[in-house]
Amino acid sequence: MLAPGSTIGILGGGQLGRMIAVAASQLGYRCIGYAPKGDNVAADVSSDFFENGWGDKDALAAFASQCDVVTWEFENVPLATVAAIPDDLLAPAAKSLEVAQDRLNEKSFVEGFGATCAPYMRVESDHDFAQALDRIGTPGILKTARDGYDGKGQWRIANNHEASGVRFPGRPCVYEGLVAFEAEFSVILVRAQDGEIRFWDSSANRHSGGMLVESVLPAGELIESQIADARVIAGQVAEALRYVGVLTLEFFATKTGPVFNEMAPRVHNSGHWTIEGAATSQFENHIRAICGLPLGETSTRFASINMRNIVGEDALEAHTMLSEPGEPHLHLYGKREARDGRKMGHVTRVSHEAS
Ligand code: AMP
Repeated sequence: MLAPGSTIGILGGGQLGRMIAVAASQLGYRCIGYAPKGDNVAADVSSDFFENGWGDKDALAAFASQCDVVTWEFENVPLATVAAIPDDLLAPAAKSLEVAQDRLNEKSFVEGFGATCAPYMRVESDHDFAQALDRIGTPGILKTARDGYDGKGQWRIANNHEASGVRFPGRPCVYEGLVAFEAEFSVILVRAQDGEIRFWDSSANRHSGGMLVESVLPAGELIESQIADARVIAGQVAEALRYVGVLTLEFFATKTGPVFNEMAPRVHNSGHWTIEGAATSQFENHIRAICGLPLGETSTRFASINMRNIVGEDALEAHTMLSEPGEPHLHLYGKREARDGRKMGHVTRVSHEAS
């Protein structure tokens, strides 16, 4: 167990790092962040912050020398950066990043535990793309295998006519068939160093343009009937990776069962409701797991919960929500520029009444 006052290193400087650092400070830890220059909003709540390139070996060594454990809030931290941190400091272990950074890797890894995925094919050339369109057909989505997030690096193709207007982007991709889903949900779990796993309830997640818009609990009958199967898969993935910390797997709920979409080896936007809505938040349990503390209860504390992202310039008016009835819980991430499509904050509404 890491003693209070120990130092947690966080790779990445965004809002997830900020919320991890807030949870860590409540438990008496200090956090040091590391990320390239940018709008590193985690720095505002960290005791120190290294603004250095991912390839800066000297800075990484100086960062690691001050940390008792190192985690990440961003799954696209280069593997070479993570390799520069001593293995025994890392939680979770680097293998989970290696699997999750490549959509093809993660699909085949998770299929190994019995998950169903949308039909997919690797696309590394115009020829592969034509073959994938031929075999899988339309509608479908071409996604870059690496570095995509919030719908970036994705091209939706509704029909053959649209396909003729989309070119192979010159980087490894996956083409996958569009899943006719009824709803979307994620399984968020925490695994402790001794292997204990706890799950939070799953919310129904609504996306637009590839980005999460809102998470709602209860999730509804269809999702609820598929959570057990999805948890079995997520639990096996966590075991196989000897994972320590919070792990997220996203699923489509279809008429015939859950279809795995992707995994994130970290705390997740669809778990922000746990701050007010669960007995222990995803952020606190991530800290508890990586520091070797007992895990907290994950039960849901309210009859209905709605977490909504605040995007772009909506953040400028967000404070008006504070006078709304029902005590909305407003979280703003302190980002300096309210660009279109940028997650600026979120608001969680909880109620003891069923919605
Ligand atoms: P991703 O970046 O893969 O998580 O995709 C973001 C969102 O795009 C998902 O949450 C879905 O709403 C949608 N999406 C992605 N892939 C598919 C698919 N194969 N079929 C249907 N919708 C998809």
